[in-house]
Amino acid sequence: MIVLEVVIPLPLNKNFYYLPPKDIDPEHIIGKRVKVQFGRRILISYVLSYKNIVHTSTFKFKKIIKIIDENPLITKETIKLANYISKNYICSLGEAFALIIPTTIKLATKSMEYKEIMSEKIVNKKYILSIDQINAVNLINKKLQDNCFANFLIHGVTASGKTEIYANAIKYALKQNKNIIMLVPEISLTIQFMDIMTEKFGQNICLWHSGISNIEKYRLFFKMKNNDIRIAIGARSAIFAPFENLGLIIIDEEHDQAYKQEQKPSYDAREIAKWRGKYHNAVVIFGSATPSLESYKNALEKKIILIELNERVCRKKFPEIKILTLENKPFSSRSLLPETIEAISKTLLKNEQIIVFLNRRGYSPVVMCKKCASVYQCSRCSIAMVFHKNQKLLKCHYCGENKKLPITCSICKSSDITIFGVGIQKVEDELIRLFNSAKIFRLDGDTAFSKNNYERAYNGIKNGEYDILLGTQMIAKGFDFPKVSLVCMVNADMQLYLPDFKAAERTFQLITQVAGRSGRGNIDGTVIVQTKHPQHYAIKYAKNHDFLSFYKVEIEQRRQLFYPPCCDIAKISIRDKNEKIAEKIAEKLSIILINLIKQYNLELKLLGPSSAYISKMNGFYRKHIIIKGYKENIIKLVGLSKNFKQFSRTFTSIEIMPSDLL
Ligand SMILES: [Zn+2]
Ligand SMILES: [Zn+2]
Repeated sequence: MIVLEVVIPLPLNKNFYYLPPKDIDPEHIIGKRVKVQFGRRILISYVLSYKNIVHTSTFKFKKIIKIIDENPLITKETIKLANYISKNYICSLGEAFALIIPTTIKLATKSMEYKEIMSEKIVNKKYILSIDQINAVNLINKKLQDNCFANFLIHGVTASGKTEIYANAIKYALKQNKNIIMLVPEISLTIQFMDIMTEKFGQNICLWHSGISNIEKYRLFFKMKNNDIRIAIGARSAIFAPFENLGLIIIDEEHDQAYKQEQKPSYDAREIAKWRGKYHNAVVIFGSATPSLESYKNALEKKIILIELNERVCRKKFPEIKILTLENKPFSSRSLLPETIEAISKTLLKNEQIIVFLNRRGYSPVVMCKKCASVYQCSRCSIAMVFHKNQKLLKCHYCGENKKLPITCSICKSSDITIFGVGIQKVEDELIRLFNSAKIFRLDGDTAFSKNNYERAYNGIKNGEYDILLGTQMIAKGFDFPKVSLVCMVNADMQLYLPDFKAAERTFQLITQVAGRSGRGNIDGTVIVQTKHPQHYAIKYAKNHDFLSFYKVEIEQRRQLFYPPCCDIAKISIRDKNEKIAEKIAEKLSIILINLIKQYNLELKLLGPSSAYISKMNGFYRKHIIIKGYKENIIKLVGLSKNFKQFSRTFTSIEIMPSDLL
């Protein structure tokens, strides 16, 4: 009898067998998605193969319920890539399949109409490349021509014209009839690149990210497979764009942690890019003004071809970065220093634009009783609640819990309650008070939930409708606004003293990236960085635009303290509603792991267990165990420990190369 081998998208370490419908050749079902009954559930699953078996036992195979796809979606590459993901990111094959080919994408019913959103304008603007750019383009095109796998790291200062190099590589790849994936870290940035690339290459370009509907994705899926679409621009998940003739992958702002997925399977799009590049003999370009330490180390060790662009295009000057010292009081509520206010005022008078940056939502991050000094914490998380002025609510930014602003202290009943600290809404109030005729747009997690708001901010600043763009990290990346001449960072220290090995790297990157939004057009730019720690090396080197010196200090510290990129790392998280149980299980697990490390001589270091930075979140107590060493050994250790399922009621998960240890 003939049975189909089916992969179920659940954390199960084996495949299952189902009977094909009688009248259909099983050959024609391979590679398609099907609906099957699994336990009590009906699941969309993937058909890998079929076999002819001699069936003797009394076991009854179930029939598949429905074939979903008209054409197969799974290729040889899908299967190999799923195996790679399953092994390296510690998930089941089914979970890996579901990542590459979402179960949710679906064919439109006949009644639905597609709206083709394709731009028609093709403008061939003449753009003269600098000598550095020409050299870079030649190096890349040579590899494209040779049809051989190569990784490039373009370390180009902000406004050094990386986008022109990308465009030239894309042009060359298209000429060779190859397809292109381009990744940017934020959905908001896809709009800008879509505009640029459509203008240069016309149609055949699509956007691919979580905001695209499942019906649209299904349609695009086959268009990409059939070469009707040639360029996919998107956020992290676009790395799985199903091109079969892939020639070029570009990852812009490669240092960005958005390329690492936090939820399981916690894959890293940069690693997937290398894998797919190798598979297709394609060229992979990583680009950044502030490369990740990993990539730069690889480049210095000649594992990646390094291209350095040290000058801004047209010899534009680097913006001057001024460091202003905030007074070092724990509960200071001052947002803008007098010198910052003066600079904003002068810029407004010149009719130039300003970006004000603060990576903290809400109005004030601390609500405290003055009498007994108790701070209002979320009942479900070990973190202070943030005051949001418009709704007069306290909000938890981790679990979303809301509370009314208390009138009296719940502990000592005093009514002397104050709010401290600076959130972005407070900066907005202050800007409105100081510059009441200026048009201000605030873009943060509370205002940007609709995609329209991104576009409104982007177009509004571009067209000069707004004078000041005020925003959180979503405005720090990649935006290109030629009329912005002043950038103010209200507080550069937000990440600096987090207990994480990447804290300094993140701070350096952020200042450089935010500063890079200034002076991109014909006007010189200025940047003001307010900080309580002007002497910190991350801030000093950022001020001098000195990546290399920063790299040298930082890599030396990682070497001494044994952190990536000088080793690989894994984070095991243990979560339970009962703190004692979480502690006990973490302790038990760490003993099991230590014994395995000894028994198999694995050369791994284990740290912890210890409480996570936010020790309670969403009602769960969180413990961490950190493992350092070679990735191969870490994966082996996880394999040996046979998952941690024995602790049934406690959640345990493992993340390989986590983007932080918080
Ligand atoms: Zn009190
Ligand atoms: Zn909470």
